[in-house]
Amino acid sequence: MTVIRAMDKTMTCTEFQDALPELFESHADLSGHEHLKSCENCAALVRDLQYIASQARLLLPIHDPSPEVWDHIQQAIRQDKPEPPTAAARK
Ligand SMILES: [Zn+2]
Repeated sequence: MTVIRAMDKTMTCTEFQDALPELFESHADLSGHEHLKSCENCAALVRDLQYIASQARLLLPIHDPSPEVWDHIQQAIRQDKPEPPTAAARK
């Protein structure tokens, strides 16, 4: 279970990205997030995700993206990182 710490400015990129789905679902104001003010990487990532989310809402009849959608987005986030051993074991 990921803990939402939207106001924790000491959070790392990994912690921020792990919390992103919850932040999106809670409709938090990500543009004012402390981490994004000091991290251009995550700021760019959030812009991409907001675009993806807006496109997903146009395509899907439901208001909120399904857990499957977030699974795909999280996989996309992690594509450029080393594969964690647990991810391989789950398949
Ligand atoms: Zn970051």
